[in-house]
Amino acid sequence: MSGQFGRLGSRSVAFRLTLTLAAAIAFSLIVLFISFYLFLKAGLENRSDNWLRDKANEFSELVQAGGPGVMQAEFEREASSIGPRKILFRLIGRHGRLIAASDDSAFRSVGVDPTSVEKAAEGTPVFKTVPVEGRNYHARDFYASLEPGLTLEVVRYLGDDEDLLEDLRQSFWMSLFIVLIASSFMGWLLARRTIARVENVTNTAVEISNGSLESRVPVTGRGDEIDRLALTFNRMLERIQLMVTEMRQVNDNIAHDLKSPLTRIRGLAEMTLTGGGGDGDYESMAASTVEECDRLLEMINTMLDISEAEAGMARLRLEAVDLGALARDACDLFQPAAEERGLTLQFFGDGRFPVLGDTARLQRVVANLLDNAVKYTYRDGEIGVAVRAEEGRMLLIVSDRGPGIPGEEIERIFDRFYRCDQSRSQSGNGLGLSLARAIAKAHGGDLTAESTVGKGSVFTLFLPAERADRSGDRTIK
Ligand code: ADP
Repeated sequence: MSGQFGRLGSRSVAFRLTLTLAAAIAFSLIVLFISFYLFLKAGLENRSDNWLRDKANEFSELVQAGGPGVMQAEFEREASSIGPRKILFRLIGRHGRLIAASDDSAFRSVGVDPTSVEKAAEGTPVFKTVPVEGRNYHARDFYASLEPGLTLEVVRYLGDDEDLLEDLRQSFWMSLFIVLIASSFMGWLLARRTIARVENVTNTAVEISNGSLESRVPVTGRGDEIDRLALTFNRMLERIQLMVTEMRQVNDNIAHDLKSPLTRIRGLAEMTLTGGGGDGDYESMAASTVEECDRLLEMINTMLDISEAEAGMARLRLEAVDLGALARDACDLFQPAAEERGLTLQFFGDGRFPVLGDTARLQRVVANLLDNAVKYTYRDGEIGVAVRAEEGRMLLIVSDRGPGIPGEEIERIFDRFYRCDQSRSQSGNGLGLSLARAIAKAHGGDLTAESTVGKGSVFTLFLPAERADRSGDRTIK
């Protein structure tokens, strides 16, 4: 088993859960970061372009007030206030003639672009991002017309903004790495803890398949899904264990009930053989053997009938039956036996009580109940049989003033082979009530018992009242 289930490795649910969690976190963080990064980048570009536009407006006013001649000094002053190698100002006249320029040593590779000058002269400011040769950065190259025939070019170093974005990218990857490691670890721990509880169920199932039916899954009491799984599993085990115990008991009972008549048959045969008896002995042995075999066959047939009825396989020959008439006939049939024991057997029920049922099988139920009542009621006692209609169903009630059945045994008398201790002196095999209840249930009804020790018992057969739309042969499901 452990070979099959032990090392699941990368196929384990815990591993896949952890991987999914890490992938989900990584995806969310990356999407979040990209949005934030693009937003910040656009913001920085905007701020830089606005600054360039403002400068163009400022210089335009200066040119109008003092003419182009003042610009050389202004450019130098402005460039030195911004810092060395950070900016380059050029003032370009007609035909690309350079009128003024600040120190261009940092941006020598960025020449004047005649097309951009032309475009700016037409009134559309030009913004371009260009690489700076010899430096790992870019620059913003801006052209704007100050007045007809005069174009301003500003080359602005973007290294500071690019550094900022680069730092941001690096710290993001670092943080992502740390978050992924931490969340994978936490996820793995969490998944392992949860899966370990599911594994408890698997282990219990393995123990059971190895033959230990008493094993149960531990329940933490948290009331979560896994606890519910464990509880359901344990409940299922209870039922299976009960069924197995019952089956074992039934097996024991069958073995016991088969053993007694067989032992008797064998004993008789041995006695006849060793006794060297005459024909009379052999005849009596044969008669006893037939009797015992009949009893055995009856028991086996009853067991088969019960199984058939319980499995819903009994093919009931359904027809309209008057339960009242059926009970009355049964009473007539048992009257001699009752009288023989000095019992009073009375029938109560006027009118018709139509049910849809299998006459032969229902007769068997009533006969069983009456047989028990006659068998177990003390001499000179009373037995009553009543039939009533009640809320869409028919009730057949057999009551007696017999010894009664102890409370703890009342449900067990419907189990196969169960016989109360006090009844062992009477004939019987403990199958009658099992069969009667199975037949009642196959008809969509039930058979119940109430009893008070010392006072008597009441058995009630419930059957659905007949409906016009149901008749004919059918297999009860
Ligand atoms: P059997 O009568 O062959 O033993 P049943 O299945 O008919 O088997 O009944 C099971 C047990 O229920 C009986 O052995 C008896 O102990 C108890 N029982 C059934 N009917 C009565 C009754 N009317 N009064 C007292 N005990 C009863």
